Amino acid sequence: MSEHALPLHTRIDGYGVEDNELTVGGRKISDLAREMGPGPFYVYDRAIVQQRIAHLRTHLPDGMHLHYAVKANPMPALVNAIAPLVDGLDIASALEMRVALDTGMSPKLMSFAGPGKRIPELEQAAAAGITVTIESETEMQRLEAIAADQQCRPRVAIRVNPDFELKTSGMKMSGGPKQFGIDAERVPDVIRHIAESSLDLVGIHIFCGSQNLKADALVEAQHKSWALASELMTLLPYPLEWFNIGGGFGIPYFPGDEPLDIAPIGRSLSEVQDALKAQSPNTDLVIELGRYIIGEAGLYVCEITDRKVSRGRTYLVADGGLHHHLAASGNFGQIIRKNYPVLIGNRVHAEEPEVQSVVGPLCTPLDLLADQMTMARGEIGDYVVVFQSGAYGPTASPINFLSHPHPREVLV
Ligand SMILES: *Cc1c(COP(=O)(O)O)cnc(C)c1O
Repeated sequence: MSEHALPLHTRIDGYGVEDNELTVGGRKISDLAREMGPGPFYVYDRAIVQQRIAHLRTHLPDGMHLHYAVKANPMPALVNAIAPLVDGLDIASALEMRVALDTGMSPKLMSFAGPGKRIPELEQAAAAGITVTIESETEMQRLEAIAADQQCRPRVAIRVNPDFELKTSGMKMSGGPKQFGIDAERVPDVIRHIAESSLDLVGIHIFCGSQNLKADALVEAQHKSWALASELMTLLPYPLEWFNIGGGFGIPYFPGDEPLDIAPIGRSLSEVQDALKAQSPNTDLVIELGRYIIGEAGLYVCEITDRKVSRGRTYLVADGGLHHHLAASGNFGQIIRKNYPVLIGNRVHAEEPEVQSVVGPLCTPLDLLADQMTMARGEIGDYVVVFQSGAYGPTASPINFLSHPHPREVLV
């Protein structure tokens, strides 16, 4: 795809242009739309996911484990495609657990994180043999009761809330008071308690934040995380199976965002892995990524149903919007609304681009997919394509708001 045709960052091998129309997985958007039938849809490209994981592997140290965070995109066909390419799956609910187990991957390679895990979910995870990442002492006590009830030895990991944060992150999940993990200063007691209990402590997990585009911030957090984990590991009666150092690798969404430079992160992880192996040779270093693996491999596609001009401003009204793609509308945690990369999928190169806004069918001014963006003139029946849409799409959107049909999903 030639660069000038691209909205912003989408210099991604895999998307192409044929007869001035965007292609995904070698298929024109309009052909795919006909195959899908009426209504908006998400499309994910498995070849791009493969490239992405291969790219990561060239930078990550040998032997390091790469996990996929299922919540970024739990579409079963996609999770099945990703499972053979990664070393583990991280889940955050009983339904995600079902999807993960259905891939056929060993439950020993799965962990279940997230605050507020209730007794039935913990029982399910214990019965499946999945490692539960405890986020509170209550969860630890519940698992001990389950161990006694079911005469089993649940596998657990401790999520630690460190006393530092991941700087420049889209979402911060550590440092100070947090609902995530157990405060670092409480962890030594928890470790002592677990050592005498019927629980099998297999891992330590530190996840500081999400959507970070600054390699130095990630490197700094990784070194601090390792220092903390290393100290905690000296308190253990037996070696851990793994130390999960988190992730948080971001992708560029907005004008001015630069793609994350993976090379220095790979070098930093290599140092951490060497230090870990020196202290505890059989403990694996794990990284867990969601968005970075799948975010750029997905598009959201909807159709223009109306074109109107209001007091000099042009609106393209689409059949999809905020209810399917909350993040692209700017309402998923953004402080200042910015446009995702958007184009008219069947008019990639524009002779005379126009400034237009793309809105959805909801009765709220928040339903905005593109705010006064320069793109090809859109007509009724054309396709609006939103890039960078592979992660936190349908499952992170209020799909019942206004009771329109739900978005469909396809893997090509
Ligand atoms: C959400 C989450 C992830 C995935 O984050 P991404 O930004 O999608 O990579 C990983 N680990 C934990 C604990 C999470 O909560």
